[in-house]
Amino acid sequence: MGLFSWLKSTPPPQPVTAPQPVPTWERPDPRAKNNFILITLDSCRYDSFMAAAPKVITKLTGGEVEKRVTYASWTAPSHYNLLMGLVPHSSPEHVFASEYYKQDFLNYDRRLEAEGIAFAKLIPSLWIPTFLRRVMGYTTHARVSLPVLNSRTPINVDFDSFQLMEKHNDMAAMLDTLKFSDDRPAFYLLNVGETHYPYALPHEDPSTWPRISGVHGVFKNLDAEVVEGRLISADNAPKFLHHERLDELRERQVNAVRYLDTVFEKLYDMVPKNTWVLVTADHGELFGEAGYFGHGTIHHPLVYEVPFLEGKLR
Ligand SMILES: [Zn+2]
Repeated sequence: MGLFSWLKSTPPPQPVTAPQPVPTWERPDPRAKNNFILITLDSCRYDSFMAAAPKVITKLTGGEVEKRVTYASWTAPSHYNLLMGLVPHSSPEHVFASEYYKQDFLNYDRRLEAEGIAFAKLIPSLWIPTFLRRVMGYTTHARVSLPVLNSRTPINVDFDSFQLMEKHNDMAAMLDTLKFSDDRPAFYLLNVGETHYPYALPHEDPSTWPRISGVHGVFKNLDAEVVEGRLISADNAPKFLHHERLDELRERQVNAVRYLDTVFEKLYDMVPKNTWVLVTADHGELFGEAGYFGHGTIHHPLVYEVPFLEGKLR
């Protein structure tokens, strides 16, 4: 018997698992009534929102605004968490986190006006856009202002459309892109940038934006950075800021909320009946408290305190 004769009599070994085709899926018939719009006012901390006393935004709840706690101190993890279905929490005492998650998820029955949404349906993806699109029959869309959420990042999963807006601070431009249909409900994530540093309104001349020593030159080109989809460098963070300057910056954030109240008026006029709107922030902002400015690498209660309100207009 030759050395290799066994090759002739033994079939070649088969791979244990052959590559499988990617499973195809069909969008089911709609299983809920409500459109669902999830709006994050980027960096808008709770007390800035309250100081602005917005009349229109709060029509959702008849004026009531909750102070909630966000799970993360900066844009990316906070939005990933939101899209896992976990909105800012109320920090309840004597409750296990797992129990809170389950209870919180039941709120989607009301938000979507659907019967008996089972938490199990969110598994294994743990991703609201996937759940809404593939289980509930929604169309799913994102309009974002901050480049860390651009469409080439892993957050863009199971969206029918995903757009990083041309300007980082123009919620009104987002409204022109919203489409609603009678055939099936829509989900929109709107990440709004007017409340993000430098708290600039869309028609404000960039040459008049506040210039913080050390940041100048980075934020001067914020829109160019947004358009090109590059991330903003924080290498030149300000070393020291005067109190008056910080008060002025905080006032600019408050003013941005006042301005947004007029944009929400347009939004609330255009959304169809059966639309659930949830308004919150991805994280707060520090304006000099404990020597901090901004958000992200800050561990301070104010960076986690965000406004939270939700409801149906009609
Ligand atoms: Zn943010």
